[in-house]
Amino acid sequence: MWEFAGPGGETNGLVIHLGMSGRCGVTTAAQPKVTHTHFALRMADDREVRLVDPRRFGGLRAGPLAKLMASEPLGALGPEPLERGFGGAVLAERLGSSRRPIRDALLDQEAIAGLGNIYAVEALFAAGIFPLVEAQRLHASAWERLAGTIVTVLQRGIDNGGTTLKDFRNVEGEVGRNQDDLRVYGRADEACPRCGAKLVGFVSGGRSGAYCPRCQPRPRTRQVR
Ligand SMILES: [Zn+2]
Repeated sequence: MWEFAGPGGETNGLVIHLGMSGRCGVTTAAQPKVTHTHFALRMADDREVRLVDPRRFGGLRAGPLAKLMASEPLGALGPEPLERGFGGAVLAERLGSSRRPIRDALLDQEAIAGLGNIYAVEALFAAGIFPLVEAQRLHASAWERLAGTIVTVLQRGIDNGGTTLKDFRNVEGEVGRNQDDLRVYGRADEACPRCGAKLVGFVSGGRSGAYCPRCQPRPRTRQVR
């Protein structure tokens, strides 16, 4: 999201969605455009913001910021884990009646914004919660613990400059380092970094993940604390 002061003092916004493999970069205007550059915004100092998107899953919107925030797709998003007031109560309110596996429920952007598969899988490991348990079985204490680990894994991802498995680059074209910091995602059959047990891979809702059968045991009781 980019914010610009309009001529009458109003705040305008530009929202760019990268899709699966789009990249936003800042470059000089003189730099030749690479293939699949679909958008370029010239700035006063002759630099350009450019969107390169080979697969064209990305998109952009521009207009008054308040209107962008209130309309689709941003207006439909759930609360942000990194904003004030986020916690176990918010998670429980948004997901507490869901019968879906907790990992799948966490990926619903209209319930909670900003959690992709990697971060959901990592947060569940850090919280010691079995990823395939029905969301509605989580007790308040489990929601609270999970809210804490969600914030931790997202902040760690940001501090590491993002997770680059294939395509992700920041605006300077640099890859992230968070892939080296993943505890369980993509590590099925490897040893659990906490207890040494063999990590188990799973697929649910078409998305893969992994968990530790010892640190995240399948719950035997109705409520998961
Ligand atoms: Zn373990």
